Amino acid sequence: MAEALPGLRADGLRGGVLYYDGQTDDARLVLENVLDAAQAGAAVASYCAVEALHREDGRISAATARDQLSGASLRVHGRCWVVAAGPHTDALLTLLDPQHRPWLRPTKGVHLVLRGERLRVPRALVAYHPHDGRVLFVLPFFEHTVVGTTDTDFAGDADSARADAADVAYLLAAANHYFPGAALGDDDVIATWCGVRPLLAAAAASGDSPGAVSREHRIATRADGVVVVAGGKLTTYRRLAAEAVDAARAVLDAEGPPRGPTTTADRPLPGASGLRSEGDLARWQAQLTAQLGGDERIAQHLATTYGVGAARLLARVAAQPALGERIVAGLPFIWAEISHAARFELALTLDDVLVRRVQLFYRAHDQGLAVLDRVADALAAELAWDANERAHQLQAYRELVALNQRWRDAPAPPAGSSA
Ligand SMILES: Cc1cc2nc3c(=O)[nH]c(=O)nc-3n(C[C@H](O)[C@H](O)[C@H](O)COP(=O)(O)OP(=O)(O)OC[C@H]3O[C@@H](n4cnc5c(N)ncnc54)[C@H](O)[C@@H]3O)c2cc1C
Repeated sequence: MAEALPGLRADGLRGGVLYYDGQTDDARLVLENVLDAAQAGAAVASYCAVEALHREDGRISAATARDQLSGASLRVHGRCWVVAAGPHTDALLTLLDPQHRPWLRPTKGVHLVLRGERLRVPRALVAYHPHDGRVLFVLPFFEHTVVGTTDTDFAGDADSARADAADVAYLLAAANHYFPGAALGDDDVIATWCGVRPLLAAAAASGDSPGAVSREHRIATRADGVVVVAGGKLTTYRRLAAEAVDAARAVLDAEGPPRGPTTTADRPLPGASGLRSEGDLARWQAQLTAQLGGDERIAQHLATTYGVGAARLLARVAAQPALGERIVAGLPFIWAEISHAARFELALTLDDVLVRRVQLFYRAHDQGLAVLDRVADALAAELAWDANERAHQLQAYRELVALNQRWRDAPAPPAGSSA
């Protein structure tokens, strides 16, 4: 164990178990699915919130949605509707039925990104929190380390969930317990990330701790033909999606000719098409390394983030070599990725790019603030922002960073208290 995880607390250590698991970039996973849908002919619209659903003969026939960026209202017509709104599921179901009783018991989960130069783990550690025995993870995260998560009941708007000082203290206490030599403090936290789990309430008894609530999903077709997806995990998303499509097909088939079978089980994400094995990926990465003049780190980043889609980035670098320069020294992101995100990957805002596509928000020590003006220039050129829009985008991103760091303003809770 000491060799597998240098710095791990030796006190009381008798052994460990090695097992294998997957790690993913959740935003990229979602994006690849959205890009695939668009390639398959779907009309996709981000930042559009459904505000009302309209009935005709007992069935939902249209929705009114508001574009959160422009304020414009759109009306969408459809014969089959699927609610897949994560922690917002109950809010959508309340639009359908004001008497709706909640299906979910949402819990807040926080991760910390810790400076890699202060704690670096060559592999993941799964352990129990020293205060309350909850399972937690210390994970390699590119050049840094992630520790998480908390799991606390959450009420309110899921979009407003943030890490607070108690969350950070709780996670730092665990990291310091298992890696006492690291002596981590608040200054070692680069960023926090926080989400709300859409856990199913039905499976939970009221006295259960949040961590004991089921991670299973539920797919139901309501009497008005709306298919509802609730709960679930990233790990099982393909199975869940296939079940949801089957449920939607059953609704549509009842009204028209039956459709062909779903291809979910065999369909690779766009970046993975043609990359059937680890060997294929390694060969693709080697090819990218050669094209990049030997820079393995950038090649690895491009190959594992964009898969075969990296070819488009390299073509742009070949035409304009300055686009191949790193955005921030020490990180593998290159300038070509910024305009690529707007041109090919549906990015509309600075935080679309820096949080969910080019992860400076989590991986740059200043969350990307030093290069923000240049990034805004590149996006302004791509998205035709005028001076007002550029200023608005800069302000919105700076506010996002400030919100992410707000936990520092509150006093840390007494040692030993839990999140
Ligand atoms: C801290 C944490 C750790 C986790 N760890 C793991 C893990 O290790 N493994 C794992 O498999 N899973 C994990 N999960 C669970 C996983 O992230 C979620 O189950 C998954 O993201 C749910 O996906 P979803 O598409 O159902 O919901 P979401 O990803 O929340 O997507 C719902 C979407 O609906 C949109 N929406 C909401 N309301 C409206 C509206 N009115 N109109 C239009 N759109 C709307 C939202 O904007 C959002 O884009 C974790 C979750 C958290 C919070």
